[in-house]
Amino acid sequence: MMNKDALHPFSESLLAWYPANARELPWRQTRDPYVIWLSEIILQQTRVAQGLPYFHKLLHVFPTINHLAKADEALLFRNWQGLGYYSRARNLHKTARLVVEKFNGKFPQTYEQLVQLPGIGPYTAAAIASFAFDESVPVVDGNVFRILSRYFGIETDIMHSSARKQFTEIAQSLIPRAYAATFNQAIMEFGSLQCSPVPACETCPLRVSCVAFATNRTQTLPIKSKGKAPRNRYFNYFIVVQKHRVLVHMRHKKDIWQGLWEFVQHETSQLCELPEAIGPFGDLLAFPTTELRSPGKHLLSHQRIFSRAWLIQVPDFVDLAMFGDFQWMDAQDFEKCGKPVLILNIITDNLVLHELLV
Ligand code: SF4
Repeated sequence: MMNKDALHPFSESLLAWYPANARELPWRQTRDPYVIWLSEIILQQTRVAQGLPYFHKLLHVFPTINHLAKADEALLFRNWQGLGYYSRARNLHKTARLVVEKFNGKFPQTYEQLVQLPGIGPYTAAAIASFAFDESVPVVDGNVFRILSRYFGIETDIMHSSARKQFTEIAQSLIPRAYAATFNQAIMEFGSLQCSPVPACETCPLRVSCVAFATNRTQTLPIKSKGKAPRNRYFNYFIVVQKHRVLVHMRHKKDIWQGLWEFVQHETSQLCELPEAIGPFGDLLAFPTTELRSPGKHLLSHQRIFSRAWLIQVPDFVDLAMFGDFQWMDAQDFEKCGKPVLILNIITDNLVLHELLV
């Protein structure tokens, strides 16, 4: 039996709220660190409803960490396609290999060891350590910042470097040693369902002791200063097609979308018309060119990509030499390559590309 006398009222109410409100999610039915890790990395960048199909798909293709470690990175990218943040997929692969090579396929069991692995930050390490190994270490993410700052009326700017330490200490003081996993699951679920950005205070069991509710500050807490303004970039794409093949390349530079495939691309300092947009590939203008529907603004975490796209159909009889690091690829093979969401959107938005490439 839980010794409720020893619990802070916050923890007691939260642990009582959880069983009555928790959603049934597949990663909650397991203590397998691999499955928990996979779910946490997926959920870092997507909501539960969108993440679920990816979770099932990735687990089907890579049922164990050994499968993932042995797999080709391209296969992971292909199955990751649509989730974005490919650096996370890359780290997933790196960590799988490391765990197999260094730890014989078994995840390290402590927070301190887990947090050393590529792509596993304090939040994910705490989630794995508590859910799989019952370590009493709190998860601290946006949900936790929000709930604790409201409940305790904390005015610390959560973007400030000192905030994590402060909120981790508070969460650590609240976490019941014997129920670390449940407490962590509960606080995350509470942040999603109850104390969400628009909180449901009227039905909240913590309302009587919540400082933000008592002082009418639920809309102003947590305090979050604005980060750096995102950088605008302007990408011009040229879908150069001949028969059933297309000119493409893999992005190698230290930039976004490393390891993913895209069409001929020229970046400009602003959106511009065709002659300027095509830049060094001007020779292609000798062939029929049609402007395509462009997906418009594409948002990444720190960048806004504005794009335009043109279809250039090269007649069969033209022997076009390769240029730059672009190569001809059969449409069928290109279909199997990992691509940025922006490229997928260009293909989806243009029926003509569907007919030519899919
Ligand atoms: S009363 Fe409102 S602000 Fe306070 S913890 Fe509950 S949902 Fe969050």
